[in-house]
Amino acid sequence: MTPDLMEAGAERKQVYAARTLRQELATESGGRSAGYGRIAQAGEVDLTHGRILYLEDVSVSFDGFKAINGLSLDIAPGELRCVIGPNGAGKTTMMDIITGKTRPDTGTVFFGSTIDLLRYKEAEIAQLGIGRKFQKPTVFEQLTVFENLELALKTHKGVSHSMFFRLDSVQSDRLAEVLHTIQLAGDVGRQAGNLSHGQKQWLEIGMLLMQDPKLLLLDEPVAGMTDEETARTAELFLSLKGKHSLMVVEHDMSFIRAISDIVTVLCDGSVLAQGTLDQVQADERVIEVYLGR
Ligand code: ADP
Ligand code: MG
Repeated sequence: MTPDLMEAGAERKQVYAARTLRQELATESGGRSAGYGRIAQAGEVDLTHGRILYLEDVSVSFDGFKAINGLSLDIAPGELRCVIGPNGAGKTTMMDIITGKTRPDTGTVFFGSTIDLLRYKEAEIAQLGIGRKFQKPTVFEQLTVFENLELALKTHKGVSHSMFFRLDSVQSDRLAEVLHTIQLAGDVGRQAGNLSHGQKQWLEIGMLLMQDPKLLLLDEPVAGMTDEETARTAELFLSLKGKHSLMVVEHDMSFIRAISDIVTVLCDGSVLAQGTLDQVQADERVIEVYLGR
């Protein structure tokens, strides 16, 4: 297919996507609750206690060094939580634990009220609806934007084959919606290798969105981006909030300022402080270990 045809196809799909979304909203009570209802039903995540992620007293040691040390933290459905802290604080290790890459020595990690994540393997956790973005973009450079997004669907196995036809149209609607969300609708036929660094990062986020994750973990997503790309990423994350729950690790304070509600400061493997960015920036202990004077 030529890029022109693909663009025309993508535009058409966008119109379908908008229509589907309107129908969904019309049959449910409102934006926020409609999203949660649909998500909870699809993936059976019990949100009755108002938490999508719950960590309590989690610890892990590597060769006797406690990288995570009595970490407790929880995230509400639809929340965009920012996590900051010095290098070596345990931010990436925390994500490794949530996604099943690293097993903690002790502690509790729950997805919703009923899913004990410590009982699942890494691939199963992804299928439960936890998507993770590593720092480096890992898109398929030889494939087009469209093909990358399509592949993200094919490789995700949480799809029921008995509803093949219906899901097919839902999937193409989703693809159009995601293209629009990541602002790559105009680049659908371009080879991913020719995109800017920022666009590659957005494409990778788009690949995660194709799987409709309930929780997205993003590790230093704006590292290496231009100021303009960083600003557009802030807009993107704000648009995802509410529909998905997000945990974002970043060092870029202007980016954190643009997107944050509650900021958690991690240090030496546990929570040092938590609050609005203004609150944690005024905290003497945070200034001491991280922000400097
Ligand atoms: P952050 O992401 O906050 O910079 P990390 O979670 O990467 O911190 O690392 C926390 C600490 O745990 C560091 O001291 C790091 O060297 C150590 N660490 C992380 N993963 C491993 C591992 N697989 N084996 C040994 N040490 C590790
Ligand atoms: Mg890290």
